[in-house]
Parts: sequence; C-alpha cells; structure tokens
Amino acid sequence: MSDMTPITVARGDGIGPEIMDATLRVLAAAGARIAPEFIDIGEAQYLAGYSSGIPPSAWDSLRRTRVFLKSPITTPQGGGFKSLNVTIRKTLGLYANIRPCVSYHPYVKTLHPAMDLVIVRENEEDLYAGIEHRQTDQVFQCLKLVTRPGCEKIIRYAFEYARQHGRRKVTCMTKDNIMKMTDGLFHRVFDDMAAEYPDIETEHMIIDIGAAKLATRPERFDVIVTLNLYGDILSDIAAELTGSVGLAPSANIGEHVAMFEAIHGSAPDIAGKGIANPSGLLLAAVQMLVHIGQPEVAETIHNAWLRAIEDGVHTAELYGSLSIGKPFGSMDFADAVIERLGFGPEKIQPVAYAGHPVGSGSGGRPAERQAAQRLNLGQVVRHPPALKALVGVDVFVHAPAVSADFLAGQLSALVTPAFVLQMITNRGVKVWPAGFAETFCTDHWRCRFVAANGGEVTHADLIGLMQALAARGVDFIKTENLCTFDGERGFALGQGQ
Ligand code: NAD
Repeated sequence: MSDMTPITVARGDGIGPEIMDATLRVLAAAGARIAPEFIDIGEAQYLAGYSSGIPPSAWDSLRRTRVFLKSPITTPQGGGFKSLNVTIRKTLGLYANIRPCVSYHPYVKTLHPAMDLVIVRENEEDLYAGIEHRQTDQVFQCLKLVTRPGCEKIIRYAFEYARQHGRRKVTCMTKDNIMKMTDGLFHRVFDDMAAEYPDIETEHMIIDIGAAKLATRPERFDVIVTLNLYGDILSDIAAELTGSVGLAPSANIGEHVAMFEAIHGSAPDIAGKGIANPSGLLLAAVQMLVHIGQPEVAETIHNAWLRAIEDGVHTAELYGSLSIGKPFGSMDFADAVIERLGFGPEKIQPVAYAGHPVGSGSGGRPAERQAAQRLNLGQVVRHPPALKALVGVDVFVHAPAVSADFLAGQLSALVTPAFVLQMITNRGVKVWPAGFAETFCTDHWRCRFVAANGGEVTHADLIGLMQALAARGVDFIKTENLCTFDGERGFALGQGQ
C-alpha cells in the first residue's frame, strides 16, 4: 500500500497560487509523503454561482482526505456571498483555531522580541453563527450563540494543548461583565475546567484590558483561549506584533477533519508579482505534517526555515538591515529553504517534533518535543437536561413614533389573563415603567410579559397572547421564551430593571 497521505489542496486566489507553489516545492524537496488532490474554490466559484464559493466536488475531496491545505481566498465584495472559511469551518466541525505567534528577533524586526504565544480561538459559534436579521426600519440584529459543549470543547483543547506543549499558563478572555450569560458561560466553564489542571497557571481577563496588555506586553502571555470574534481580532494583532502578518500559520482542528492555512488574506495588492512571503502557509504545512504523522519532515522543514530567516533570507515586507542580497521572491525564498534542508538555526532555538508520531503541530520551541501526540480530549459530556419552567415571554415589537408609556397603555389593555406586562426596554434599557425622558428610543421595543400568578405559563398561553396582539394589529417581530433551568433564571434582566 502507498504510504502517501492524500491531502486536499486549494491554490486559492490573489497571492494564493504563488505561495502554494512555493510551499509544495519545499514539501516535495523535503520528502513529504503526500498525495495532493487539487480543488477549485473561491472567487471563480462564487462568480460561477456557488454562493459559498465551494462546488460539490470540492466537498467530496475534503470528506475523503480529511486534511486540507488551503491558500487564501478572495471574498467578492457585496451581496449574497457567504464567507467560505466560516462555511468550511462550521460544516466540517473545525471547532479549534490554533494560531501560534512567535517573534524571530532580531532577524524579523519587532518591538516584542520575547513574544511566544498561542491563541486558541473558538471557531464555530459566537457572532459567527451568521444569523442576522433586519427587524425594523431602524434595527438590525446579529445573534450571538454560545453553547456549553462548544465552550467545553475549546477550553479542554486549550488546556490539553498547553499541557502537551509544555506551556505554563492559560489566559481566558471574555466580556462577561457585560454579556453575563454567553461570555459568562465561557468564563464559568473555564474556571470549572481549570480545577482539573493544577499544573497550569490560569487567569481571566476582560477582553478590552486583555487586548491592551497583549498589544503592549505580549511576552506575559502563553496560551490564550477565547471566543470566536475576540480570537479573530487578537490573533491578527498578535501576528502583526511578531513583525509580519505574513509569518503566522493557523490550524483549524475538528474531530474528523483538519484545515491548515496562513492567517493572512489573498493580498490582491501584491498578487501576481511573485513577491509574497510564503512563510505563513509553509508553517501551516508544517503543522499539517505533524498532524498526519510525518513529524520528522515537519521538523526538517521548520528548522531549515528558521535557518533561512536567521541567514537573512527575507521577502520584501521583512527586508531590513539583517537581510542578505535583494528581497527574495516567493520561489527564491522556497529554494533558499530547500538549500538549508538538513540544517538548523544557530541562534534561534530549533524545533523538535520527531519521535512523536501524530499530533496537531505548533509554532517553534523546544517544548514542541512533547507536543506531537494526539491531544487527550476525551468525549464531550452531554449533561442531563435541566428542569425547565416557562415563566413568561419577551415580545419584540416594531412600533415607530410612539412613546413607551403609550405602548405600555396599549399592551396592558390587550394582555390576556395569564400574563402581566412587566417592563418595556428599548435597545436593552428599561423605558417603562419609570423610564427616563433622556433615553434615546428607536422603533424596536422589547415587551416582557410574565406569568400573572408569579409561577408558570403554558405554550397555549403564549399563543393566546400572540393572537390577542395580532388581532389588534401589533407588529411583533419575534418572541423569546423566558424560562428557568433548575430554578435558575435563563434570561437577563433589563438594564435599569
Ligand atoms: P490581506 O491579509 O490579504 O492583506 C493585508 C496586507 O498584508 C496587504 O498589504 C498585503 O499585501 C499584506 N500581506 C498579506 N499577506 C502577505 C504575504 N504573505 N506576504 C507579504 N505581504 C502580505 O488582507 P485584506 O487585504 O484585508 O484581504 C484581501 C482578501 O483576502 C479579501 O477578499 C479577504 O476577504 C480575503 N481574506 C481571506 C482569508 C482567507 O482565505 N483565510 C483571510 C483574510 C482575508
């Protein structure tokens, strides 16, 4: 049987083909045992009518090989095109996005020479669920979804990753002072799980101060675990702090499939010039080789790459006083790495992946020696369902040019016996009863009806209420049931309530 591992390869858009060709050239020269299957995804496929940018044949290859090396894709501007990356990550369950950001001082200019951190970003949930609606003339909504299994999977991943890569500390970043339920859940799961890892230091930071500290003292961080949107933003900042966004790889790991790519985009401003830095994609391919059980090839390439950087082999955006010759083009850079296969860096610490057959890969440091094993993630535990009680309903109403008091008067007259109108909020702030004249109101009102008897209501009661509102022409946009779970409130209070 062939020992070639089939992988799916997309050459991508913009600089994608240039950096992919350079990367594959290095992989071939280093003896990587891979059998690439090329797929066409991206701009041309979007324009051919696939709104996700992915034709069905590409999915077939991905589901067959389960390993994806991907160049960046251009998302066409304007209507209807969904992000291909988000579609791939979510469809294939790639829940963990691993982004090592390492400084290569003094060879790559950076203000933060001692920086060496990994961002473990939740990759499927949060505001990236892509559920958005226009609800009224004035109001647009994006739904933020955070699930307990989602939090448990990514936080477990971060702790196991830290342990196996010899990292000391995991920092969790959320905004749970504001989003007490969604971000609060992430923080709670982090605290609960931290107890299982007494060997690892843990801390929690509110994302705003956390991002500020990352931008000014990145060397104080080791592993950062966070929600999708925050992780997206933080990892670009962190990559840029190392000296160039062109250096950073990213692994997207799921239970069945893994995708490896650079973190940067298709760089249309330099496409076709042959000057793009292929390093982000090459280091992503290194992560891939560790993942598919070829750590010795990964190690050879990574160390040759470090040597090249150390020797001053620099593409245009890194070019500086320690660079040799002219700025290297993408292919010349690849050839310079190939010339150094079998050699390691002399000043930067070499990486060591070999001797450990299967894992998810990472950035470069000796502790990687511990790392190239599959993480011990266990199974997601499905918790038994809680005792759920329906205690009311929030009805969102589109009503232009009314006051809160007027709306409250109208609704109070319509309310069915099972309910009382408890409060009205506008953009989350309580405006009735006892609202402030200073509060700016839009045409979007959240009207909270709770059980008149202080206990529970039924779904039939909800329908009765909605029928009463519909009969009087109230333009309700949506409802959210108010429930308790094992007696604990499953909904936030209004601001000012
Ligand atoms: P970008 O990352 O493509 O470019 C930002 C800047 O960094 C540009 O000045 C570019 O020249 C430079 N740069 C990026 N990669 C480089 C490299 N390897 N070598 C040297 N310089 C490099 O970001 P953008 O311009 O905001 O996005 C361009 C397109 O890429 C958009 O269509 C966007 O949707 C897409 N995009 C795709 C991915 C992906 O497929 N993973 C990620 C981000 C953006």
